[in-house]
Amino acid sequence: MTALEIILLLAAAGLGIALLRQLRELRKLRRWASQPRLSDPPEAGGAWGEVFNLLHRHRRATLKRRRELAQLMVRSRRGAQALPYGVAVLDAGYRLDWCNDAAREQMGLDPERDRKQPIVNMVRAPEFVEYLRAADFSEPLRLGSPGGGRTLSLQIVAFGDEEHLLLSQDVTGAERVEAMRRDFVANVSHELRTPLTVLSGFLETIQDLKLDAGRIRDYVGLMAPQAERMKRLIDDLLTLSALEHAPPPDAERIFLQPLLQRVRAEAEALSAGKHRVSLEIAGASDLLGAEREIASAFTNLATNAVRYTPPGGEIRLRWKLTSSGGEFSVEDSGIGIDPEHLPRLTERFYRVDRGRSRETGGTGLGLSIVKHALARHQAVLDIDSTPGKGSRFTARFPSARLKAAQTVAG
Ligand code: ADP
Repeated sequence: MTALEIILLLAAAGLGIALLRQLRELRKLRRWASQPRLSDPPEAGGAWGEVFNLLHRHRRATLKRRRELAQLMVRSRRGAQALPYGVAVLDAGYRLDWCNDAAREQMGLDPERDRKQPIVNMVRAPEFVEYLRAADFSEPLRLGSPGGGRTLSLQIVAFGDEEHLLLSQDVTGAERVEAMRRDFVANVSHELRTPLTVLSGFLETIQDLKLDAGRIRDYVGLMAPQAERMKRLIDDLLTLSALEHAPPPDAERIFLQPLLQRVRAEAEALSAGKHRVSLEIAGASDLLGAEREIASAFTNLATNAVRYTPPGGEIRLRWKLTSSGGEFSVEDSGIGIDPEHLPRLTERFYRVDRGRSRETGGTGLGLSIVKHALARHQAVLDIDSTPGKGSRFTARFPSARLKAAQTVAG
């Protein structure tokens, strides 16, 4: 073998060994890289060591970013869950990708069962189908909930790559308040318009006809009750509004005995001797609260008893202490109330017999005032009544509102 051959042989052997080493490092790399979990890189020196370290750093950064993304996803979903709205994520074809619990409850969606189903398969109302078709999402759409009994406000918001969010909100309460406000305005307008029409009719007559002083006096006499009726209505509205908006009443001492006697005197004055009005105080006590409010509530109950009891009837006012506090009751032998009306009696302007209420100077707000004034003192109103026999209205106060009676000085 020549020297050249020996050199070539040695070089080939060296190359072979170097190649084997590289292959070994490559195998290590493959084994390491195919592990699903991040582990320390294999020991290696030189260029391979650098490659391993670089790859290790890269893998670590990728895994960290993936973990952060997963956390972000979890947080976004948690955020969407916590929203007081129903949230459904829809793809470009309005198919469901995901929804939160509120959307599940309000729109009857199921994120697993309904995944990739067109949303119109689940929210089937024709108005909603038309809303999607028209694709004008500048305003929300009001819709009865699929289960009924509720009103939902739905709105589509576009985001990302032609994806959409469907937001839903239960607006049943707001809708009810709005309806009550509308009814209230209509009622007040109606209540004021009737006496105003009468008044303006009389005024025109007085203006147009040449009337002598006596006739004018007659007309003015007819106009006065109408003006009085309007004044009563406005007074009651102001009282009600004050009760609704004023801060909670102070806990002043209300001397109950003189107050009850005043209430009785007012009932007697209204009755003008047509009824027997009695007052019984069983258990002396004073009350803590706002005197004007309590006086207004008790007087309303007592005068109602007079107004809804035919002449000759009996009205009994009674204060008594009970195991849980104290109660003021007004019992009459009047016309009574059909059970079907009882739940609505304290609503503003609710009357069983509009004509009778008006004839006796009612505004339809008395029991509303009573209910509010009592509620502000943590008291409740109970009504028992038998048509044709009479009624009993009872205001029950908790013991925290009672105070041992003191006699009024002087
Ligand atoms: P009103 O001004 O019409 O009396 P209220 O709010 O005081 O208004 O009472 C509401 C309705 O409840 C009355 O219109 C009447 O129909 C009924 N009502 C109230 N008190 C009595 C009572 N003592 N006996 C029978 N009906 C009553």
